[in-house]
Amino acid sequence: MIFDAIVVGLGAMGSAALYQLSKQTPHVLGLDQFSPPHTLGSTHGETRITRQAIGEGAHFVPLALRSYQIWRELEQQTGEHLLTITGGLFVGQTASYQPMHNKPGWLRTTIEAAETFGIAHRMLDTVALRREFPQFNFRTNDIGYYEKEAGFLNPERCISTQLDQAQKNGASVRTNERMLAFESKGAILTVRTDQATYQTRKLILTTGSWITELLRKTLTMTFFGCTGRYYTGLLFRITIISIHLIGSLYLF
Ligand SMILES: Cc1cc2nc3c(=O)[nH]c(=O)nc-3n(C[C@H](O)[C@H](O)[C@H](O)COP(=O)(O)OP(=O)(O)OC[C@H]3O[C@@H](n4cnc5c(N)ncnc54)[C@H](O)[C@@H]3O)c2cc1C
Repeated sequence: MIFDAIVVGLGAMGSAALYQLSKQTPHVLGLDQFSPPHTLGSTHGETRITRQAIGEGAHFVPLALRSYQIWRELEQQTGEHLLTITGGLFVGQTASYQPMHNKPGWLRTTIEAAETFGIAHRMLDTVALRREFPQFNFRTNDIGYYEKEAGFLNPERCISTQLDQAQKNGASVRTNERMLAFESKGAILTVRTDQATYQTRKLILTTGSWITELLRKTLTMTFFGCTGRYYTGLLFRITIISIHLIGSLYLF
């Protein structure tokens, strides 16, 4: 059998990808080296903050807004509780370009994104911050961005719910199975794991922090015919561009 798509890595990214794909076709396979949700990846734990205006870049806002719809749809379908709305306060200096998550001007981008996309929020000056949130010791010139719909997700429950739903839609899930390598021939990709070999038209690698290990072992050989170490930078960008040209491999 040739799968329409294989998703390797079933954390936050892969479980969501598999679930969405399974709505389009049952001929999809999800693989993970462990049994998600597990304690060894980035999606471990009981909470992950979420919000609608994204300081890492306004281009993420449509994705964030869509994710709110998906969580609520999943909750309705399954009865699981995934998203808790608490409201979220983000604080920074008035005119500062202070970075967060390596993004300079994170708070400024957040505010601009909220204004551009009409996301409900309130701005608080230092006086209002001290009045409304006396438990914190604010600095002079601190300002606050308060987003009413911010909250948190239960990430492990999000994974298991999406994998369950994907399987209900006909997707196959194989856990405790590690992908070792892949190669492409024409329009078909062959994926080799420690237990089997599969063929697919599309391959999605959502292996989180394991991605560099996989790329080093597989992509350099597949696309450049060479081994050797490389780092994020020009070569990595070339790799991504090559993949998009081939059009059958996606990385997250
Ligand atoms: C401590 C912490 C706090 C965070 N807080 C927030 C937050 O508040 N809000 C927020 O939005 N984000 C937060 N993040 C970021 C967010 O949790 C991650 O971006 C997200 O969980 C990444 O998911 P992922 O699917 O890419 O990776 P992972 O969850 O690590 O999944 C990758 C999967 O790939 C599998 N895999 C790897 N290699 C192979 C292979 N060769 N074969 C088969 N399977 C393989 C692994 O077993 C794993 O299950 C936080 C992250 C951390 C670590």
